[in-house]
Amino acid sequence: MPTSKAFKQNKVSAKNEIRRRLVLRALLDFGPLSLTDLAKKTGMTLPVVSTIASSLKKSKLVVEGTNGTESQVGRPPSIVMLNAGAGYIVGVDIGRLSTNFVVLDLGTNIVAEARRKSITLGNDIKVLDDLEKEIRNVLSEAKASWDKVLGVGISLPGMVRGKQGLGETYFNFGEKPVTELLSKRLRKPVHLEHDLEAMAFGERWFGAAKDVENAICVNVGWGLGVGIIIDGKVYFGQDGYAGEFGHIQVVKSGELCYCGKRGCLETVASGKAVTRIAKEKLAAGAKSMITETLEVKGDEIDAETVLKAASRGDEFSIEILDEAAKYLGSGIAVLINLLNPAMVIFGGGVFTAAPYLSETARVSAIKHSLVPLSRDVRFVTSSLGSKAGALGAAAYLAEDLFDVERLNPSAYV
Ligand SMILES: [Zn+2]
Repeated sequence: MPTSKAFKQNKVSAKNEIRRRLVLRALLDFGPLSLTDLAKKTGMTLPVVSTIASSLKKSKLVVEGTNGTESQVGRPPSIVMLNAGAGYIVGVDIGRLSTNFVVLDLGTNIVAEARRKSITLGNDIKVLDDLEKEIRNVLSEAKASWDKVLGVGISLPGMVRGKQGLGETYFNFGEKPVTELLSKRLRKPVHLEHDLEAMAFGERWFGAAKDVENAICVNVGWGLGVGIIIDGKVYFGQDGYAGEFGHIQVVKSGELCYCGKRGCLETVASGKAVTRIAKEKLAAGAKSMITETLEVKGDEIDAETVLKAASRGDEFSIEILDEAAKYLGSGIAVLINLLNPAMVIFGGGVFTAAPYLSETARVSAIKHSLVPLSRDVRFVTSSLGSKAGALGAAAYLAEDLFDVERLNPSAYV
């Protein structure tokens, strides 16, 4: 049992940490603020906010200035902002075909980005060697000091329990969560997120959903899923599994999905589905630019081949993609009826390569949803492209670093 003096000290330092995080989080969410506005946003008094800001200034995490510029001599500084150069946040989105890295400064500016193919999605712990090496490489290429890294956010596909730091489908190394293992190696905080939620974070912070409170981020790549933004917040669900949109049944007694069910949306409207359908039809004798002009055959055919042929006008490929987009749209109609979003954002590899597919999906979504719910929905293609997940993983980590709830304030205050 702690002595009452030690307990008191503990209580005071916990209170200060909460106040410190409240100030940092407000600056992260709202940008530069005057001390008066900072007091309003955090619900603290002006003298308290002023003391916390001074201490954060000493530790160089915040700077003071006037309207975003350094203060002039003799003039009292009035604006407080995060010191962009004080630290870096790394976001890593590990995909099935490649891994995207971004490095953000504290002003959430991108200081580096990279795409690498060296990280294997699997459950061999040796992959952490490759991951650490690549993170250090990306930082060193950007001439960003390792000491200034505040943390690393990781996004993974498959089943992920982000809150516990556990990868289930991939990066499953037994009992110890991947975040614990990686954090120990890097000596930095590490957070894990499901790729669907990471994409939603990316869109909310940097993309189309910046000013939208309710949105659905549709991610069509090799697989298919959605990130959901409700009342301005990314929705995780009870265990962090929310968004497995690809595994709702759309074809009775349809194709067997890898999840064990039949006729999942993912079996007719994902990159994987498009590949399978193209292969089956070509094997049955269909004519296409894929085999004739591009001379790609059998197992060499993948979603990229179909997208490439479609971009050259191949009717066979266009029809397959069109059919997939129609199925997707009818699925989105269910989400529109259920969630009443203001925006649907199309992202992921398939839409990045063929943005015109969003029009087919949009028409199908409107056709199958209720008019009052769909008439004002804005349908857009993500402008972040393949960067959305890495940006989202970094943004989530930034929010988490300055999160108050994780400190369990009720235990102290
Ligand atoms: Zn399935």
